[in-house]
Amino acid sequence: MNLETSIEYVKGIGPEKAKVIKNVLGISNVEDLLNFFPLRYLDKSKVHKVSQLYDVTTDIQLKGRITNVQEIQTGKIKRLSAKFNDDTGSMDLVWFQYSKWLKEQLPINQEIFIFGKINVFNNQYSMPHPEIEVEEKKDTENRLRPIYPSSEKLTKRGLGQRFFQTVLRNICKEIPNLIQENFPDYMRKSFQFLSRQHTYLNIHFPKDMEHFDKANYRLKFEESFFFQLGYALKKLHHKSHTIGNPFPVVGDYFNDFYENHLPFELTGAQKRVLKEIRLDMKRPIQMNRLLQGDVGSGKTMVALLTMLIAMDNSFQSCIMAPTEILAQQHYNGIKELLENTNINVKLLTGSTKVSARRIIHEELENGQLSILVGTHAVLEDKVKFKNLGLAIIDEQHRFGVAQRAKLWAKNKIPPHILVMTATPIPRTLAMSFYSDLDVSVIDEMPVGRKPIITAHRREKDRAYVYNFCREEIQKGRQVYFVYPLIEESETLDYKNLMTGLENVMDNFTHYNVTMLHGKMKPSEKDDAMNYFASGKAEIMVATTVIEVGVNVPNASVMVIESSERFGLSQLHQLRGRVGRGAEQSYCILMTSDKLSKESRTRIRTMTETNDGFKISEVDMQLRGPGDILGTQQSGIVDFKRLDLVNDGAIIKTTKKTVEKILENDPLLTKTDHQIIKNYYLRNYKGKNKWSKIS
Ligand code: ADP
Ligand code: MG
Repeated sequence: MNLETSIEYVKGIGPEKAKVIKNVLGISNVEDLLNFFPLRYLDKSKVHKVSQLYDVTTDIQLKGRITNVQEIQTGKIKRLSAKFNDDTGSMDLVWFQYSKWLKEQLPINQEIFIFGKINVFNNQYSMPHPEIEVEEKKDTENRLRPIYPSSEKLTKRGLGQRFFQTVLRNICKEIPNLIQENFPDYMRKSFQFLSRQHTYLNIHFPKDMEHFDKANYRLKFEESFFFQLGYALKKLHHKSHTIGNPFPVVGDYFNDFYENHLPFELTGAQKRVLKEIRLDMKRPIQMNRLLQGDVGSGKTMVALLTMLIAMDNSFQSCIMAPTEILAQQHYNGIKELLENTNINVKLLTGSTKVSARRIIHEELENGQLSILVGTHAVLEDKVKFKNLGLAIIDEQHRFGVAQRAKLWAKNKIPPHILVMTATPIPRTLAMSFYSDLDVSVIDEMPVGRKPIITAHRREKDRAYVYNFCREEIQKGRQVYFVYPLIEESETLDYKNLMTGLENVMDNFTHYNVTMLHGKMKPSEKDDAMNYFASGKAEIMVATTVIEVGVNVPNASVMVIESSERFGLSQLHQLRGRVGRGAEQSYCILMTSDKLSKESRTRIRTMTETNDGFKISEVDMQLRGPGDILGTQQSGIVDFKRLDLVNDGAIIKTTKKTVEKILENDPLLTKTDHQIIKNYYLRNYKGKNKWSKIS
């Protein structure tokens, strides 16, 4: 037997069962079986009593006797039922699927142990499909019995716990021949690992909880380590193979702007990040960098300065945003900053007129256009550059992987890529998910920014909230009212929004109200935005279309209606629409009176902190890592044992370990590291389906 041996040749399986197991569990060889880990363990030293079954939810063990067996027919369904007694009471054992054989061999009136889960129905306890042992075996077995993931489909065919336990017990006997080390001695010593063979043995049949913990730790460590190693090797490979245009110069465009047009002093974080980018672009290797910075941390300025460096090296740049509004705002912002320079900047979106578009195409191709701001429209094949040297993508999570790949092809030598995101990602996620991107973080807000004050208010406080808004408006401020948008029911959303609008208009009769929602035409949206941005309207009623990037510094109050229906990161994004000016800003989270526990946690988190990274940690705890990355990319973090929420320490340790190893031995040629290399080549190489993220 070896790892590749098909399971049909494993003792106790055979071709028929092998087929079922393969179909249901995707397990086809011995290696898969060894990696079919128990969900939990049943403590066999513990015997429950029938009279004390309330609140028992795990698999348990009882000791007693079967006194009576009968078949019960209800309609077409037949079931087998047996009375089970211990010295404290009785309950039913039930089989919905059973063979004649089972019926006949049930041990009546003998001392037995039963194992299984308890069902409660009409205050009656029962145990469906229990496992039965006539006599407790001598105490040579471990007292922790593995419980494997199971399904009805399997148990129906006799592939229950007992089956898997026996099969795995047999396979575990072969572990000395099957399992080899994949870490060198020095690592095993310094991390105090169980040997790999003991790890597998103890994950299936733990000697005790302490051994289980050690085995579990090693499996998590391995998973994280080899994942990190894969990314790190790829990154090394990328750095030595993907050529890029070196930007050696910082010249007049940058310096003139920096000295004469920069409207404020850069924050320390902006300067640091700029330096990181600059060092990257200096080399003849393509940059792939993620720029993380909370809403309002000043990513746009970093982007602009980076594009000026591209110009100093005679290259064009483009910056892409996920929506027209956002692209327009970037364009306006950049245009304004470059007002007193002669730099040619243009905007390209889906609604750019044909004539304007023609000019853009022409100027891009002859090199007259230096900076192109746009939406996905930039990706179209018709859009050709003379020499695109830098592509910046704002709000990264809205662009698909394939779309980003298109950017690469816009130049013979791929442009440097800077991905900007305002959705802070928990550190453990960033470390694993983005480990093939270099990450820069702006972790400092521009000075003088007042932290937004966030409050939770309920329906009964509405009059008070409106009063507060009026006071703010009288001080010259502006107010947003945001309504949730559930995509399943656009009509309902629209109705909510309209009711909300009416309500606001009724309560703010002396003020101008404007409205923004996703179904409006781009030109209508622009009008609404401009009406608000120019201060003609004091109030904007909107759906979450304003979530991303909208910038009206004079708006100081954000009222989020039905805020319990928003996710944390969305609430944080929305809140980021205020607090952009010098004035004290407020975010008011309106909710109904009754809140689920999770909603309460979300609301409380929002009122307690403005720190996007902290919020993202809580978000990950609530939703899990997959949901945070979005469905499109959630498969990427499918770890078997590693838990991105709770295993931060392991991820950090493995990352450091990988870095240290590759620093001294990038090709893993040292004797000590051969073992790692061989394991990696056998198990991981070529399996990373997500090879290029940007
Ligand atoms: P985001 O990171 O959310 O894209 P922006 O780039 O839109 O943030 O910047 C938010 C606001 O802060 C803008 O009005 C911008 O002009 C301003 N800003 C950026 N950097 C600084 C700074 N160093 N000092 C003062 N204000 C700044
Ligand atoms: Mg921005």
